[in-house]
Amino acid sequence: MLTGNEIRKSFLDYFTKQGHTIVRSSSLVPEKDPTLLFTNAGMVQFKNVFLGVEKLPYARATSAQKCLRISGKHNDLEAVGRDTYHHTFFEMLGNWSFGDYYKEEAIAWAWELLTKEWGLPKDKLWATVYQDDDDAERLWIKVSGLPKDRVLCFGEKDNFWEMGETGPCGPCSEIHIDRGAEACDRKKEKGHRCRVNGDCARFIELWNLVFIEYNRDQNKTLEELPAKHVDTGMGLERISAVLQGVLSNYDVDLMRDLIRAAEELAKKKYGTDSGADISFRVIADHARAVSFLIADGVAPSNEGRGYVLRRLLRRAARHGRMLGLKEPFLYRVAGTVSEIMGEAYPELRSEAGRIRETVRGEEERFGETLEKGLLLLEEAMAKLKREKKRVLSGEIAFRLYDTYGFPLDLTEDILRGEGISTDQQGFERLMKEQRSRSREIKFIGSGGREIKFIGSGGREIQFVGYDRLDAESEVLAIHADGQGKEEVHEEEEADLIVEATPFYGESGGQVGDRGTIETTRGDRMEVVDTQHPTSQITVHRGKIKKGRIQVGDKVHLRVDAKFRQRTRLNHSATHILHSVLREELGSHVRQAGSLVAPDRLRFDFNHTGAIPEDKLAEIEEKVNERVRLDAEVKIEESSFDEAIRKGALAFFGDKYGDHVRVVKIGDFSTELCGGTHVHRSGEIGIFKLQTEGGVAAGVRRIEAVTGEGALDLIRRYEQKLREIGELVRASGDETVEKVKRLLQQQKEFEREIEGLRGQMGKNQIPDLLAKKQNVNGTNVLITQVDGVDAKQLRELSDQLKEKMGSGFIFLASAGDNSVTLVSSVSADLTKRYHAGNIIKAVAPIVGGGGGGRPDFAQAGGKEPSKIGELLRRVWEIVNQP
Ligand SMILES: [Zn+2]
Ligand SMILES: [Zn+2]
Repeated sequence: MLTGNEIRKSFLDYFTKQGHTIVRSSSLVPEKDPTLLFTNAGMVQFKNVFLGVEKLPYARATSAQKCLRISGKHNDLEAVGRDTYHHTFFEMLGNWSFGDYYKEEAIAWAWELLTKEWGLPKDKLWATVYQDDDDAERLWIKVSGLPKDRVLCFGEKDNFWEMGETGPCGPCSEIHIDRGAEACDRKKEKGHRCRVNGDCARFIELWNLVFIEYNRDQNKTLEELPAKHVDTGMGLERISAVLQGVLSNYDVDLMRDLIRAAEELAKKKYGTDSGADISFRVIADHARAVSFLIADGVAPSNEGRGYVLRRLLRRAARHGRMLGLKEPFLYRVAGTVSEIMGEAYPELRSEAGRIRETVRGEEERFGETLEKGLLLLEEAMAKLKREKKRVLSGEIAFRLYDTYGFPLDLTEDILRGEGISTDQQGFERLMKEQRSRSREIKFIGSGGREIKFIGSGGREIQFVGYDRLDAESEVLAIHADGQGKEEVHEEEEADLIVEATPFYGESGGQVGDRGTIETTRGDRMEVVDTQHPTSQITVHRGKIKKGRIQVGDKVHLRVDAKFRQRTRLNHSATHILHSVLREELGSHVRQAGSLVAPDRLRFDFNHTGAIPEDKLAEIEEKVNERVRLDAEVKIEESSFDEAIRKGALAFFGDKYGDHVRVVKIGDFSTELCGGTHVHRSGEIGIFKLQTEGGVAAGVRRIEAVTGEGALDLIRRYEQKLREIGELVRASGDETVEKVKRLLQQQKEFEREIEGLRGQMGKNQIPDLLAKKQNVNGTNVLITQVDGVDAKQLRELSDQLKEKMGSGFIFLASAGDNSVTLVSSVSADLTKRYHAGNIIKAVAPIVGGGGGGRPDFAQAGGKEPSKIGELLRRVWEIVNQP
């Protein structure tokens, strides 16, 4: 029996044999369409090819794509775990033709793979085609030999595929399998009849083949495309269930291994209690989804994708609790996900540490409030039962959300078992109230006059600075010395709020603009920073340089053009850098923070491990290539409602306010961004990397400069080089040669000095020998020798011993703050004088220590001034009878 991993591989192998290029799964976070929440089909990464705006170097592709299906609605998770075939995360196997082969090959290969390679019984398979697609119907009968009554025709709903309201579309053809009467899950329903597209578990769709041949234009009419494409998709979990002979997707090995991991932790068995089984399935499914999301750079948060991740984590934690798991456990199941799927998806292995830490951290945090929240909920449920009510109030659902971190779907999930529903409208109303409370800003303007922004009837400050750097407006409020003021005077510092401003307030990493604000009377304020104390208010911060400014003044605002220009270059450069990092290091790379200033840019991103030098050079080179492409920067702005109509997800509403702004650079970068940008990438001029390093676990930071900043950097380097050249009296390329020569010379000098020192020591031998004395018939030489190092002192003592014959020698040498001592005794005298013991006894006098053999010993010290005292002490020892 084939394992899930083998089925995936055998699919890709089969299509490789048919001339397809294996394309790696793209990230779960769509790169080319930031308005789409998650990659939810294999074709997402080829969307631009079908639209004709992107060309690929191959005409046939195959891939196993990781997918996540969750819509913006909060109760969408409910089905997962309750049945045996819903998933959040799943894998989609697919093969594509971009203007290459068409219906006949697509059908023939699908049929061959299913029936020959995988050996599925022909008499259990059914095909469906679009009612007007006679070609497909004819081809199916010809290729498969299926009788005409097993090739069924369906209408638009089942067999016509469209990418959106407009755009590429075409008929599709599906392959279904009959799993036998026992597989039907609606047997008990009166009048139910099992059939293809009949919504029961007996007939299930295995594979969808889409034939893209039309484009639907604005007027909803179909026009034929110049090239025809094929786009197919088959869920790995479902085909695995069929090939492994099980009815439930959760009995497929890839899922069962995860359930087993949970069984071991919970010390309970799957399949013994239907309630516990739901929890097991939820845990298995969510462990996969959270592992893949984190591997692709998503972090838990309260908005957008991060909130989906958080909801999955919390729902799994609560189901763990139902199985009796009170300690963090999901991170362990996630470890099993990395183990069993890490070969097909290496990011699971490289990011395993971050997955573990993130899941565990979130489990620990939620563990604290989960208990309390459950208690509150239980009380509420008991009260409802007493009162014979069936609806939980919005207030309690909101409190659970706001105070205990219970996503609404989690609360509903818990209540469903008790047959209780939630007052969703009440919940929404409280959410909205909270949101508008946090959006309402009261600003105390002049003389205590209150100015309201947003919220109830307030006004919104307009930002008009995307395409212009100056504007006329009116002063709405002045803030200085911690209070609202009517006017401010020369030399006073103040915060100014105007009705419409071209000044960009610091946000999204981009620093706030600088510039001037002037009244019609000629008064002037110099703005040194622009900030958003809240997202709706823009505050100009600075000093009155001339005259006075008062509320109600008509003013002219002018942004410092050079400051803004240099900042724009750096901002666009971070987008390009981001795109390059994702290509060079992997799609797990995601922005973790940034700083965009006029003189530099800083970009933090998720990545584990240092980046090798040569890789950094490649990254820098690739960014510069994209700069030189002089690619057009396109900015699409749409209102939130409009974006939703076009298919963007509601999620972004929370984060990006009422506008969705998509910044596209060429065909390589698309990001949601509110910042200011260049018109063409060429304006950036040059991108120069400065530093790269780690800033936190799994987070790296790159700092770089662009345009004039890069030129400044090059000039600074040049200046340094020139200074070095002047110091060594060389210029340009000669400098390095000259420095090398100087270092070589220095080495030679050092050798020479060493030789001379040795020579000097030797020259002292006759003088030193003359200092020897006779103590009770023994030659004794105790003296200080300077200008030699330890090695030379040792050599000197050897030479003296040789010349002197029988005797005792003690030499001391002083260096800067150091002392070297050598003590040496001829073999015949070692019974009388022990070199090691003597040196050990006296070394402490110069603050040192040491010892050695009876015939030779050496020691060091650090107080040269005490050498005289030390030598006197040696004499005393030698003179002892
Ligand atoms: Zn049925
Ligand atoms: Zn940006």
